[in-house]
Amino acid sequence: MYKVMTPGPTQVKENVRMARSLVCTNPDLDEDFVEFYKDTCELISSLLGTKNETLILDGEGILGLEAACASLTEPGDKVLIIENGVYGEGFADFVSMYGGVPEFYHADRLNAIDPDALSSYLKEHHDYKYATVVHCDTPSGMLNPVEKICPLLKEYGILTVVDSVSGMFGNHMDVDKFQIDLLCGGSQKAVSAPPGLTFVTISDAVKNAMHVRKTPIRSFYASLLAFEGYYEKKWFPYTMPISDIYGLRAAFDNIASDPELEERTHRIAEAARRALTEAGLKLHLESGFSDTVTVFDIPAETTCDAILSRMKKEHNIMLAGSFDDLSGKVIRIGHMGNNANFEDMAATMYALSETLTFLGVNLKGDLTGLFLKYYH
Ligand SMILES: *Cc1c(COP(=O)(O)O)cnc(C)c1O
Repeated sequence: MYKVMTPGPTQVKENVRMARSLVCTNPDLDEDFVEFYKDTCELISSLLGTKNETLILDGEGILGLEAACASLTEPGDKVLIIENGVYGEGFADFVSMYGGVPEFYHADRLNAIDPDALSSYLKEHHDYKYATVVHCDTPSGMLNPVEKICPLLKEYGILTVVDSVSGMFGNHMDVDKFQIDLLCGGSQKAVSAPPGLTFVTISDAVKNAMHVRKTPIRSFYASLLAFEGYYEKKWFPYTMPISDIYGLRAAFDNIASDPELEERTHRIAEAARRALTEAGLKLHLESGFSDTVTVFDIPAETTCDAILSRMKKEHNIMLAGSFDDLSGKVIRIGHMGNNANFEDMAATMYALSETLTFLGVNLKGDLTGLFLKYYH
C-alpha cells in the first residue's frame, strides 16, 4: 500500500473505514436514518458557516457540479463562467448540456482571479442568471478569492455557484459571509472519506430559482428539487447509500474535533512552498497558492513519469501528475485533510529530495531539512 499524498483522494482514517461497516438498516423506510441524514447535513452546514440547507447526493464530486447546472439552467439562460483552470472552464460543458448559454470570463492561468478586473468587466456585462467559479482549481493548485468574487456578483443579483471540492477545510470557507448561493463539495478531498459522495449547500435564492422555472429540470438524478420536502415526507428521491453516509459522518466528526486543521494545513503548505523554492524548484503558479496542494514544474533534467515512478517504487509514496494542458508538466503534492500532518509531509520531502537527486536534479538544499526549518 502506498502512502497516498495526492490532492484527492486523500488518506482515510480507520474510524471512517470502520463506520462504513456498521450494521445497515433500510434507509428508505427507517425514520432513524432520515434523522441521521438530516443531522449530518446540519453538521456540514455549520462547519461551512451557513444557515443554508445541505444535501448529500449519491455520486462523486462531479455530480454536485452537474446538479448545480442542471437545477439552475433553463434553455437560453446566460451563465457567466469565470475561469482560470481546468475545472473552471469545465462548468461551461454542463451549462451547454442543459441548454444554457455559457459566456466566458477568461483569466490568466498562473494568477488568482483579480477582483478589480472582474469588477470592471461586470460593469458592462452583468445580465447573467448565475455565475460559476472554482475556489481551488486542483490541476494547477489555483486558489481564487471567492470571498471577494461572490459579493461582486451578488451586487448585480447574479446567483453564485462555487466549486470548493478541493478547497474547503484547507482554505477557509464561510458560505454565508462569502455570499455563496450554491457550494459544491466532495467526500474524497480534505474531508478525507473515500470517493463516492458529493454535497451541496443551497440558499433560498437557489430554491426560489428552481421554483420559478418555466421548464422542468431536465434530469432526475441531478435535480436538487427532487430532494425538496424529503424530511417532512420521509422520502428520498432514490435509496441513499447508507454505508457511504456513515463513513462521511465519521469524517465530518473528525473535522469537527480538529479545530486546528485549517491552520495546520496552512503551515504545512507554507513550509512546503518555501522548501521547494529554496531548493531551486519552481512553483508552477505566480500567485494564488492553495494551501491544499503544492504544484511544481518538472525540472528539465527529468520527467513526470520518472519522478512519480521512483517515488512509488523506492519510497512507497504516491504523488500526482496533472492533466489537460498541464499533463506531464507538473507534480502535485496533496496535503489536505488527513494528508496535512507533519510526519507524512516530512517523509514526502525526504523521498522527493532523494528522488530528484537520483534523477540528476541538482537541488540547492535538502528538502527535508528545509521543510523542518520552515515548519513551525
Ligand atoms: C476532485 C474535484 C472535483 C470532483 O471530481 P471527481 O472526478 O468527481 O473527483 C470537482 N472539482 C474540483 C476542483 C476537484 O478538485
